Amino acid sequence: MSIEKLNDCIKSKNVNISRAREAIYNLILSSEECLNVAQIIKLLPEYYPKKISQNTLYRHLNFFLECDLVIMLQDDFKRSYYYPKRNSFMIFCVCTHCNKVARLDVDTSVIHNEFPKAEFITVHKLCSLCSARQ
Ligand SMILES: [Zn+2]
Repeated sequence: MSIEKLNDCIKSKNVNISRAREAIYNLILSSEECLNVAQIIKLLPEYYPKKISQNTLYRHLNFFLECDLVIMLQDDFKRSYYYPKRNSFMIFCVCTHCNKVARLDVDTSVIHNEFPKAEFITVHKLCSLCSARQ
């Protein structure tokens, strides 16, 4: 996954080059975490000097989804989280206590055999932090 894939998509969809779009994409790519819109807005000044509106952000995020560059997950409050698309199957956890959405670093092969067509699945359980506190 790289900025080249974004550039291919920009060419094929015939849209203008946007520095903000590139910055948002880089932010999502370099984050280890699943990010929601509020978190992206908070982190964006590190990547892009100007303020962007939430509408603009949603427009760029939808573009990434259309281009298959990111995946979108939802927590139990229907808040959306974004994570870079990978070629491999992924498992995400929505914590049933703190509601954190995170990718699980586990062996996915057994579960992937059960859902061969899925790009990812989401499980609902306690995250590692919350289960350590129990
Ligand atoms: Zn938790």
